[in-house]
Amino acid sequence: MSVVEPKNLDWGKLGFAYMPTDYRYVSYYKDGKWDDGQLVTDPNVTLNECACVFQYSQSCFEGLKAYRTKDGHIVCFRPDLNAQRMHDSAVRLEMPPFPVDRFVEAVKQVVKANEAWVPPYGSGATLYIRPYMIGSNSVIGVKPADEYMFRILVTPVGPYFKGGAKPIVIKVSDYDRAAPHGTGNIKAGLNYAMSLYPIVKAHEEGFAENMYLDSGTRTKVEETGGANMIFITKDGTLVTPKSDSILPSITRRSLCYVAEHYLGMKVEHREVLFSEVPNFVECGLCGTAAVISPVGKINDHGKEICFASGMEKMGPTIQKLYDTLTGIQMGRLEAPEGWICKID
Ligand SMILES: *Cc1c(COP(=O)(O)O)cnc(C)c1O
Repeated sequence: MSVVEPKNLDWGKLGFAYMPTDYRYVSYYKDGKWDDGQLVTDPNVTLNECACVFQYSQSCFEGLKAYRTKDGHIVCFRPDLNAQRMHDSAVRLEMPPFPVDRFVEAVKQVVKANEAWVPPYGSGATLYIRPYMIGSNSVIGVKPADEYMFRILVTPVGPYFKGGAKPIVIKVSDYDRAAPHGTGNIKAGLNYAMSLYPIVKAHEEGFAENMYLDSGTRTKVEETGGANMIFITKDGTLVTPKSDSILPSITRRSLCYVAEHYLGMKVEHREVLFSEVPNFVECGLCGTAAVISPVGKINDHGKEICFASGMEKMGPTIQKLYDTLTGIQMGRLEAPEGWICKID
């Protein structure tokens, strides 16, 4: 039970922007091992100009949230899965993985230290947690760094949907997000660097997001720049695309479990052809930030795929999934074993 009151901020008005908080966690890797790690107050990082992260983008990250539950606890959602995913990202980028159990402890430690920055229950705001790792020593010949920094910053963010989740319109992108056998399945900064150009263009054209198809054949659904996709069939089955180049979203995996075990739905995790998308009745994007953003329309080079759920509100099945998962997260519904990590 948290006894520290939240700061006196206008929580409902916060956007999704960085605001420095009191403490951040840092651990250094040197001479083949991670040090004990500590909390520090300086929000700035000083690095050599030739640091591997600057020259060859050796970096990966995670994203999760801490929040207050109905009964006054501060918790976060399945941080062990973020720890494991960052481990996998690090391995693929030839970085030394930060131990999974220490990751979870570090998350708890930095949230606890910034307790007053955890928004009040019911405000819709949360404390966004951003763990990240970079190659920090100087490297000019192409090779992995020898020294690394694992850091966690936390920053309060506002409710993702101010005034309810309105369906969005997304477009089929002419760019690729990830190559077969590339880095699409890990959370690497480089995956986002190359998505900036297509997302700025999509926004200029009035679309909320880019939907990427598989770069090999351009016939299968992958995901958007920062969220997995979910679909609902006419007979109420949850379908999620399967591919080795999709980032394994924790929200998507949790929704599949909730659909099957809480709502008794049929769940299919399989390859999804773009040509079958018009057969679905509901569509959504899922990720930590918004949990689910309903998609009303997909624009395929001027041709619109309109979902039966329309442009006014979330479809009924996606709404049920959203209510159930957020109910579990906020402590209004009983959570599966190990999903809710208590910080105090
Ligand atoms: C982080 C991310 C997601 C969402 O994953 P969650 O674990 O649900 O937050 C989806 N796609 C991409 C490309 C991502 O980077």
